[in-house]
Amino acid sequence: MRTDTLSNEEREEFKLRCRTFLDEHATGIHITAPDPRDKETIALNKAFQGKLAEAGLAGLTYPKEYGGAGLTKEHETIWREVYSNYPDMTTQLTISHGMCLPMLNEFGSEEQKEKYLADNISAETVWCQMFSEPGAGSDVASLQTKAELDGDEWIINGQKVWTTLAHVCDYGVLIARTNPEVIKHAGISMFIVDMRDPAVEIRPIHQIDGGMHFNEVFFTDIRIPKDNLLGPLHEGWRLATSMLMYERVAIGTGSTGGITTPHAKRLIEYAQKSGTISNPVLRQKLMKLYCEETAKSLVSMRTRAELKAGKAPGPGGSLGKLHGSKILRDVRSLINDVVGMEADAWAEGDRGQWWGRLALGSFQAGIAGGTDEIQKNIIGDRVLGLPREPSVDKGVPFKDLLVGTQKDS
Ligand SMILES: Cc1cc2nc3c(=O)[nH]c(=O)nc-3n(C[C@H](O)[C@H](O)[C@H](O)COP(=O)(O)OP(=O)(O)OC[C@H]3O[C@@H](n4cnc5c(N)ncnc54)[C@H](O)[C@@H]3O)c2cc1C
Repeated sequence: MRTDTLSNEEREEFKLRCRTFLDEHATGIHITAPDPRDKETIALNKAFQGKLAEAGLAGLTYPKEYGGAGLTKEHETIWREVYSNYPDMTTQLTISHGMCLPMLNEFGSEEQKEKYLADNISAETVWCQMFSEPGAGSDVASLQTKAELDGDEWIINGQKVWTTLAHVCDYGVLIARTNPEVIKHAGISMFIVDMRDPAVEIRPIHQIDGGMHFNEVFFTDIRIPKDNLLGPLHEGWRLATSMLMYERVAIGTGSTGGITTPHAKRLIEYAQKSGTISNPVLRQKLMKLYCEETAKSLVSMRTRAELKAGKAPGPGGSLGKLHGSKILRDVRSLINDVVGMEADAWAEGDRGQWWGRLALGSFQAGIAGGTDEIQKNIIGDRVLGLPREPSVDKGVPFKDLLVGTQKDS
């Protein structure tokens, strides 16, 4: 990656290059797609990303030898700023690019980087994250999926849940227990799994908004090569923590840059058209949303500037994530005030459908990537320096803990 500072001329040239590309290609990836499994949307995303890679604009800061553009963080900042002017782009590749890609780049072996990075960057392959289990969500270190070494292969058995887009993914990053004899955080390892293996069973989960974006994933004696271990053996918890921080930054700062107020903008436009904008109480609420979104953008800019300066993503990412969840709660209530019944009942393809899905989908913001309560714990403990939560399983080997199905044995 280049580290030098750009001249004004280079900056303007690159801005124009981004704008020219986006004017031509950033159309048609709308989030209203009626396909409940969103296969159409992911196909559009893949096509867009492929074009981006052809134009030398994908994986901007990743090395050229791994399929990236080998450019500077400043180029990335410019891209984000230009990109923020193109509304209605989806975030379907957030997990693949915002979480799996940096993990492969940071912890992958040379062979793994050569094998996987370029296809991930161009979205030739899409990746998912397999952490949560029925008995291990907030307390994900209690996971029970196990990986056992047999010669040159790992044999994996267990179940994951809430795996976003597993049904359209080629690979997944999985954490599994490799040593139950030690404390729960010490006996976990991270693996790369081929999602198309017949021993991986993927079942859809039906959502309240009509979608089916996430899944239950079952592993029955799936054998994966020994070399699919990602990072050192039994150090999966350290890697998982890194991935969760990338996740909070990816969710909390989004894919755009600069100051953006997308929800306030849309709701204000709607209120202007319907005439409700003259209601002083509503105006007050819309203004508050505008301020919250502006403040969130500014904090995101600070987080990204820290990353640009070489700082690893830290607990500060939890601030953006928590704030995003609060903003969506306010948006849900404002949809009720501004859009009203149109968002409650709609005919297929109406704009009301978009608002309705946004209102229903907004509940996920306080759960996905770690619940609001967990973000508050992290902020209290690691940002504010408050005392840690008491730990009831300190020093106890995982096999002796009463978690998951071990409760019943
Ligand atoms: C849209 C969406 C997409 C997702 N995608 C993925 C994915 O791709 N891959 C993946 O692995 N997972 C994914 N998840 C799962 C997500 O990470 C978990 O749902 C989340 O971590 C919470 O775990 P849980 O559902 O088991 O809830 P639980 O951990 O059982 O929590 C239940 C309640 O208890 C509270 N609670 C738990 N522990 C504490 C504590 N110590 N202090 C205070 N309160 C506490 C929680 O805040 C919550 O209110 C996704 C979830 C959603 C909603």
